[in-house]
Amino acid sequence: MGAKYELRGDVAVITLDNPPVNGLGYDTRRETSAGIDRAMDDAAVRAVVITGGGRAFSGGADIREFGTPKALGEPNLHSLIRQIENAPKPVVAAINGTCMGGGLELALATHYRLAAMGVDIALPEVNLGLLPGAGGTQRLPRTVGVETALNMIVSGKPVKSDVLGALPGQQLLARLTGDDVVEAAVQFARERAAEHAGGKPLPLVRDLVATHPNAEAYFQFARNMVKGMAKNLPAPPRCVDAVEASVARSFEEGLAYERRIFLGLMVTPESKALRHAFFAERAAGKIADVPDDTPRRRIDSVAVVGAGTMGGGIAMSFLDAGIPVTILETKPEALERGVATMRKNYEAQVRKDKLKQDKCDARMALLKTTLAYEDIAGADLVIEAVFEDMDVKESVFRKLDAVMKPGAILASNTSTLDVDRIAAFTRRPQDVLGTHFFSPANVMKLLEVVRGKATAKDVLATVMALAKKIRKTAVVSGVCDGFIGNRMLEQYGRQAGFLLDEGGTPQQIDKAIEKFGFAMGPFRMFDLAGNDIGWAIRKRRYVEYPDMRYSKTFDLVCEAGRFGQKTGAGWYDYQPGKRDAIASPLVEDLIAGQRQALGITARRIGDDEIVHRLVYALVNEAAKILAEGIAGKASDIDMVYLTGYGFPLFRGGPMCYADTQGLFNVVQTMKRFARNPLDDEAFWQPAPLLARLAAEGKTFNP
Ligand code: NAD
Repeated sequence: MGAKYELRGDVAVITLDNPPVNGLGYDTRRETSAGIDRAMDDAAVRAVVITGGGRAFSGGADIREFGTPKALGEPNLHSLIRQIENAPKPVVAAINGTCMGGGLELALATHYRLAAMGVDIALPEVNLGLLPGAGGTQRLPRTVGVETALNMIVSGKPVKSDVLGALPGQQLLARLTGDDVVEAAVQFARERAAEHAGGKPLPLVRDLVATHPNAEAYFQFARNMVKGMAKNLPAPPRCVDAVEASVARSFEEGLAYERRIFLGLMVTPESKALRHAFFAERAAGKIADVPDDTPRRRIDSVAVVGAGTMGGGIAMSFLDAGIPVTILETKPEALERGVATMRKNYEAQVRKDKLKQDKCDARMALLKTTLAYEDIAGADLVIEAVFEDMDVKESVFRKLDAVMKPGAILASNTSTLDVDRIAAFTRRPQDVLGTHFFSPANVMKLLEVVRGKATAKDVLATVMALAKKIRKTAVVSGVCDGFIGNRMLEQYGRQAGFLLDEGGTPQQIDKAIEKFGFAMGPFRMFDLAGNDIGWAIRKRRYVEYPDMRYSKTFDLVCEAGRFGQKTGAGWYDYQPGKRDAIASPLVEDLIAGQRQALGITARRIGDDEIVHRLVYALVNEAAKILAEGIAGKASDIDMVYLTGYGFPLFRGGPMCYADTQGLFNVVQTMKRFARNPLDDEAFWQPAPLLARLAAEGKTFNP
């Protein structure tokens, strides 16, 4: 594995060979470099073609090498690029498939490039808080023009080869081809060899000039645009600086400048966090005691029990992936209502031009409805999404156990109930697990896969693979009250209540955490989710955990019938049909009354304190979750918060954030909070795992 070398007559073909995307890892670089040398040394070879094996040309740097000495091993990407540029015989890139990042930078070093139609071309480094660091910011503007290059580099988004090939005056692609790009490139290389045989110099991208008729004004405009869009991210404005250098400086100076910026960005906390999130997403699919080669069950059809808010969204997730769904209800009216909501959601997507009408029709055509369990008996997977009530779950699972074919997977979408108890209602607990979707289920990325005591490994492996197919980020959670996400959220919510009692307002608290980067503050989120849901959970917890303290204001708001957006009033007031949160004088009175009852004089709480009390509340509970083995690794907890709870991506999740702050400092801050007589001393006792890691100078994420 690395790169293959073959001769097609007098043309050498080097095929990058590092599945799945021909990442430019050490072996691939070394063998490509050796192939170039061999071709230059062989008098019978007149030109070289570089292409990719499989479906990609190259996806760029080999992410598996990140941070290891191999990443720097010679030839590194810079050396290889230089070697290609300096080759005395024509080198032609045959871009057969996806060409990204370092892969595109390598192609830009060749003398000519041919691409198949419809191939994705991108410089996506900005998504990791970086910029292309091997000449991409200097060479791409010289080939496709400054504006196209800047758009590609700042957005990281792929552009199709035919779009780039059609740009007036572009020098990126010498030719667009059909699927026979390698054969076309071999022929093309032969012609170029003849053309250059007489000593005519080979064309180099570095010798082209990047210009803009109104460079100064354009870059100023770009800078303003980027600043507005990338509020907390350092990389996008630096991309503008680097591309500007392609116009304003010599090639070599521009290259050195790009390098300096790249190295500076590498050490920013934002880039570290984005890279952490990138790896955490991939790691979430790995379960320590479930090997990758665990056999999987076939899932060709799915049944959903309950066509309510969640059932409808879950069904849509499968329909979107082309998997047929049968949805079961108790009454025809409930079925009709559920299906009508799904259709309405699809039609809204069509109206917004996010979905074509024929696709919408195809998806609805995959949906069947029924009132009879016999009709779903043959499904490979059934997901229950009925009322959150153990008796109702029991009756559903007993019926499923009676009718479902052997080997079918039985899943519950419960948010709070004990999956082991649910499994025990059946004679096949090994086939039962939780699939905790988030609302709206067809939109939200997160899926907590709840592993019961008896859940079989192949069931777990099957559901994790299926999650990928329906484009969810699946994270495994053990069985506990609230699983990973909601168990942590409980402490976050309690702390938000204490902040209110001490002097905060919903607006101030929401604003502080939104400035930190959260998609939504706690009170806006409670209003969106429905305050009645938390109320029901609290009523149960008051009995189960009589010592646990909550701000009474939560109940006062519910007692006033203020359940949130759905009732037009919650922590905020809402105007009919609008979602803007308006400060509520009534809620302010409730908060003030509660303070008076507690004998508290309101104080002004700083944004920093608000953010740290809320985020460290998450972190401390997460440390317990990790120690108990409910989460398999810290990065799984980060993924839950990044994909399900609006935690800012550029902070990498709560565990990554705590690591960045230093766990010693986190513990010190918690000790300070514990000394606040109005806060809850027990709340701020550092979890044993956190205390130990802090004492040992370690981090949650390795
Ligand atoms: P919902 O009230 O909107 O829908 C429940 C549906 O189940 C109703 O249409 C009802 O007619 C149907 N139903 C009730 N008993 C049934 C039975 N015996 N057989 C068939 N259908 C039956 O509730 P929801 O919000 O969709 O929640 C469903 C489940 O998902 C609950 O366990 C809930 O805790 C969980 N959940 C909800 C959310 C959320 O944000 N709403 C998020 C995650 C998980």
